[in-house]
Amino acid sequence: MATAVKKPAKSTKAKPGNKAAKKSAASAAPAVQNTIALIYDFDGTLSPKNMQEYAFLPKIGLDPKKFWTEVARLSIERQAEPLITYMHLMYQKAQEKGVQILREDLVAQGRDVAFCPGVEGWFELIEGYVKQRSGGDVTVRHYLISSGLKEIIEGTSIYDQFYNVFASEYFFEAYQLPYPKRVITDTSKTQYLFRINKGVEDVNQSINSHMPENDRPIPFQQMIYFGDGETDVPSMAVTRQNNGFAIAVYPKEKNSNICKELFSVGRVDFYAEADYTEGSDLHKRTCLLIDKILCDIKVRQEKDQL
Ligand SMILES: [Mg+2]
Repeated sequence: MATAVKKPAKSTKAKPGNKAAKKSAASAAPAVQNTIALIYDFDGTLSPKNMQEYAFLPKIGLDPKKFWTEVARLSIERQAEPLITYMHLMYQKAQEKGVQILREDLVAQGRDVAFCPGVEGWFELIEGYVKQRSGGDVTVRHYLISSGLKEIIEGTSIYDQFYNVFASEYFFEAYQLPYPKRVITDTSKTQYLFRINKGVEDVNQSINSHMPENDRPIPFQQMIYFGDGETDVPSMAVTRQNNGFAIAVYPKEKNSNICKELFSVGRVDFYAEADYTEGSDLHKRTCLLIDKILCDIKVRQEKDQL
């Protein structure tokens, strides 16, 4: 299915896995390659804080700073993967406080997550820009790749805006405490960039088979990755090494030091405050990169006619 998939109406919540399965099954023909992918980190990029800090940690009376410090200490002490450690510790702490948190509670907590300025209107703003600049020939998709929790993201008001969401998840029924089902670390985020690139978004399908560049629905050159810090470095590096683009952002509550560092060593094309409102630096710089991508698509299409 090479044509753009219109995002579902609010009443039919996005079921990314289902859409991905349909796409993969129908990917025999050469790709049209007229889709741009904007790919976002969540914590610190679209939302000023970590998503667990809005409802989960307050509900069990935990100070976020103390919680994340304990995660870091435990993962070093036990040589454990930090992502698995935080997922385990969240529920261990809830159990210690006698608080039961079910899947539906996490989804409900998504409603408390705050966004950086302009985020809720950003998706349509960008879609309108691409439509206007390309005359409707090129479409844009928004993807989320997050080490945070898919259950919480599902409850946010922006969930339906994404073509697909890849995030860490729990098994809720297998053990006494919820158990990590999918863990997305800094480096494993890059797997999902290749899934978007190859159109193999059904996570049950192998991503490792060879696929010629021309058959890949979204070339890296048509991707822009948005992230806020060092945890995004592997994704930024993979995107840029394959001729895609990366933008580092910083919430206005934080300073721009990390972004400046990423820019100065050539890991990102631009950096800007995480302000997604029309006319902001981030908006202007994103539109510049989109113009460049659209121009490259036109050049390629012209060459293909020869
Ligand atoms: Mg982040």
